[in-house]
Amino acid sequence: MNEQTAVLTEIRSLSAHDGPGLRTTIFFKGCSLKCKWCHNPETILLTPELEWDEKSCIDCRVCEANCPEKAIAFTESKSYIINKNKCTVCGTCLATCPSKALKISGISYTVDQLFERIHKDEKFIKRSNGGITFSGGEPALRYPFIVELAKKLKAFDYHLALDTCGVAPAKAYKTIVPLMDLILYDLKEINDEKHRQFTGASNELVHENLSLILKLIQQNNLKTEVWIRTPLIPAMTDTYENVQAIGKFLSEKANGSVQKWELCTFNNLCIAKYRKLGKEWALEHSDLLTTSYAAQLLKVAKLSAPIIPGINLSGLTKNK
Ligand code: SF4
Ligand code: SF4
Repeated sequence: MNEQTAVLTEIRSLSAHDGPGLRTTIFFKGCSLKCKWCHNPETILLTPELEWDEKSCIDCRVCEANCPEKAIAFTESKSYIINKNKCTVCGTCLATCPSKALKISGISYTVDQLFERIHKDEKFIKRSNGGITFSGGEPALRYPFIVELAKKLKAFDYHLALDTCGVAPAKAYKTIVPLMDLILYDLKEINDEKHRQFTGASNELVHENLSLILKLIQQNNLKTEVWIRTPLIPAMTDTYENVQAIGKFLSEKANGSVQKWELCTFNNLCIAKYRKLGKEWALEHSDLLTTSYAAQLLKVAKLSAPIIPGINLSGLTKNK
């Protein structure tokens, strides 16, 4: 019996984007970065949060009347405002809402509870040569929990992946990497000043931890693969200079473990998540990259990092 707990926003079965085969992806709450383009804003804070679904809300205001903390208010335009400093996430409003428009994002699981839940997906995972991906948020921040869970999952021969932004203590990677089959690692922006501006933190630790991971794999003869991911964000990371510089950096650092580099194009489909949390999002109206520009960036990537066997584009683009 393991009493450690972690707060999750979602356990997504049949995920096809977070490693090989069909996977069960676990989204941990709590992140070490605040990327301007974050597609999972509900995972940034470590603690549970209240979500409001505008489409389901019938504007009855029962929640406002019943909140013991007076944390709910409505604007004249009928937008819902939740005062996060006052809200204790007590759940009273959820219980009284007649249209199920309110939800708490963030449920606490013990290692054993999460193992039991994941193990229910065994059939499709094994049949598709898939696995489990630890994502978030930054899952490596929860490393004692993940290590215990990974040990249990490895006893059943699951393929395991860690999806990390690279900003976690070295100890996290030292303990997690030997248990993983795949590391999905973000390199977002090579210029440190821009990295700070876009994500709220320096990229120094990101680079240090990638070196550490590659060293751990090499020194311990691990079979762990590393796939690099770079988000192509309009007017931020989507420049030739950035892609070329990341390619050069990878050419210097990468050993045989780095099998893939994926350029992930931006979309604004997550705007509904920001609205549910009552958060503004500066990139709400940012457009897709054109197909031709994305193809040029791919060409730059391939020319700058010929050492990486698989370099590809993923995500939406527009024809223009
Ligand atoms: S109780 Fe539910 S439906 Fe009524 S205003 Fe609040 S969120 Fe909307
Ligand atoms: S969760 Fe509790 S404190 Fe927070 S808004 Fe709802 S009723 Fe108020």
